Amino acid sequence: MKISELIKTVKPSFSFEFFPPKTDDDVAQLMQTARDLRTLDPTFISVTWGAGGGTQRKTIDTVSAIKTDLRVESMAHLTCVGASSWEISAVLDELQKKGVENILALRGDPPRDHPYFVPHPDGFRHANELVAHIRQGWKFCIGVAGYPEGHVECPDKELDLRNLKQKVDAGADFVVTQLFFDNTVYFKFVERARAIGIQAPILAGIMPVTNAHQIKRFTTSCGATLPPALLSRLEAHPDDKAAVVQIGIDHAAQQCAELLRGGAPGIHFYTMNRSHSTTEILRRLRRS
Ligand SMILES: Cc1cc2nc3c(=O)[nH]c(=O)nc-3n(C[C@H](O)[C@H](O)[C@H](O)COP(=O)(O)OP(=O)(O)OC[C@H]3O[C@@H](n4cnc5c(N)ncnc54)[C@H](O)[C@@H]3O)c2cc1C
Repeated sequence: MKISELIKTVKPSFSFEFFPPKTDDDVAQLMQTARDLRTLDPTFISVTWGAGGGTQRKTIDTVSAIKTDLRVESMAHLTCVGASSWEISAVLDELQKKGVENILALRGDPPRDHPYFVPHPDGFRHANELVAHIRQGWKFCIGVAGYPEGHVECPDKELDLRNLKQKVDAGADFVVTQLFFDNTVYFKFVERARAIGIQAPILAGIMPVTNAHQIKRFTTSCGATLPPALLSRLEAHPDDKAAVVQIGIDHAAQQCAELLRGGAPGIHFYTMNRSHSTTEILRRLRRS
């Protein structure tokens, strides 16, 4: 089923993001995590799109297995990195044939050794072009990425928001945000988006912190801010894994409760392929 239809009726929506497994053992591990998380009744599960050919095949297979074997709605992420429009069309054909109905259309990040994104000569420069391409030839429900604190490459947050509007105007049905840790950032972003005419539902992207060192790297690379209070709690126990996980759960659970009270249509959890923190947060939310 299309996510745009699901989120009209499932309120709030809870969804989980995985990255594609690398080996066959990882596939089994990921499907077990997905099975564990299925008991939480997610609206959908999404699988990211990597730069390498091997993991792309695993994205297609995993998204398809989540839908057909686990009977949970799924979404494939798809980027423009290193791909011609013909190659992208072939992936879209295959996903459609496998019964996948939802795509998160992204430009993607440049490879690690490249400072800038360089489009394929026969490909797309920005996600809005990918959205328009998908709209022309397929019937997928389309999500796009939104950046409450602005995208790292864009010097002007208002311009970045207008670029988001281009993606929605090209045919995107909903937006999933980059991770953030301060809800004010999300609420202001939604307000600014509505003010320029973006009406699409905006799902809040939440990453429960599980590793103090890793989250500092992530936030630096994606331009998200760690609030000083959260940062100092993490810095008090940077190498105590259990304490960090607990701090991450407490913070994210509080964030989610406030987001839902404030009208967020859904929470999209960046699970890092683990089930513990997301399970605990959802249990707390449902208890309250
Ligand atoms: C929810 C979510 C899921 C993600 N999943 C993946 C994944 O699976 N795989 C992966 O590799 N990466 C993923 N990413 C990261 C994403 O690929 C990067 O953030 C990337 O740098 C930008 O992708 P985009 O689709 O937002 O690009 P775009 O929307 O194209 O934006 C990229 C930059 O260009 C600017 N821009 C946009 N449109 C235009 C235009 N028409 N003209 C001029 N400038 C423009 C924007 O302001 C921005 O600075 C994800 C991000 C999020 C938030």
